[in-house]
Amino acid sequence: MSISFEGRVAIVTGAGGGLGRAHALELARRGAKVVVNDFGGARDGTGGSTAAAQAVVDEIRSGGGEAIADGGNVTSASDMEAMAAAALQAFGRIDILINNAGILRDRTFAKMDMADFAAVVAVHLLGSANATKAVWETMRAQKYGRVLMTSSTSGVYGNFGQSNYGAAKAGLIGLMNVLHFEGEKYGIRVNAVLPTAATRMTGDMLDEQTLAHLAPENVTPAALYLVSEEAPSRTALLAGAGTVSRMAIVETEGVFLPQGQRTPEAVAAAFADLARLDNAIETEAGLAHVERIIARAKAAAIAA
Ligand code: NAD
Repeated sequence: MSISFEGRVAIVTGAGGGLGRAHALELARRGAKVVVNDFGGARDGTGGSTAAAQAVVDEIRSGGGEAIADGGNVTSASDMEAMAAAALQAFGRIDILINNAGILRDRTFAKMDMADFAAVVAVHLLGSANATKAVWETMRAQKYGRVLMTSSTSGVYGNFGQSNYGAAKAGLIGLMNVLHFEGEKYGIRVNAVLPTAATRMTGDMLDEQTLAHLAPENVTPAALYLVSEEAPSRTALLAGAGTVSRMAIVETEGVFLPQGQRTPEAVAAAFADLARLDNAIETEAGLAHVERIIARAKAAAIAA
């Protein structure tokens, strides 16, 4: 199977460098017309210029591709609306949105200024919501869309010193889950990528030898599969250093505590059992969990 983006229009936020640049270049190489968004700020989100986005646009054009630069800030809903309008004006449709823009302001929670907590959530979580909102109606109306969230292992597993970032990145999995259901009947598929790559964001966290394995281009294949026509939906792929795997949220089978035995002591006594992952299942929707536990309680009541 060959994956082409011929005739597709893609927006990649934060595509002036790092992962976003790698995604934008490969999308263009495979035929997509690309809107290269980047606010062009420092790693902590300060400053800003369109030079970074324009450089990637120049790179795409010199390779024979089509692209336009957008200097919008993802934290601004009106900037994102203007970006979507510019995409429609230039290319007539929007098929793909890769939410990739991001900043870091790492500190332990004890030392974290809440302004830094809010700034990181604003870029990653609200920024992704702003950009997605700006393209959502267009995708619904044309009954086709592919939206990719850039989450992180820091969000789903945790990393010391990244409470702001981890919370925002886990929030994106929640946004993916819900938008999957709301987009489904309009042909919109919503996925997430959890990258590991050597960019300016991770540059000072990893040693030289490790960095060599972590070219951003190693993440792009998973990202592009997740925005292709063949993409699954509500799927989160971990990608980096040549390994691609799926991140899944599961629940254990759990234990049923009969009436009269629903005490904290009973939970403590059952903990080792209820936490066991064998027979763990992936739940297909929030409501499915509710239905399952009610069915179990009813079955137990009938058996009693
Ligand atoms: P990067 O710093 O090279 O790229 C981020 C880009 O986003 C920058 O070009 C920056 O100018 C842009 N940006 C920042 N704030 C913006 C805003 N408000 N509006 C528009 N653009 C803005 O870092 P990267 O590693 O390529 O990160 C890309 C994404 O991948 C981020 O969401 C990051 O959290 C995520 N991620 C990266 C790694 C990794 O290992 N590099 C791991 C997990 C997740």
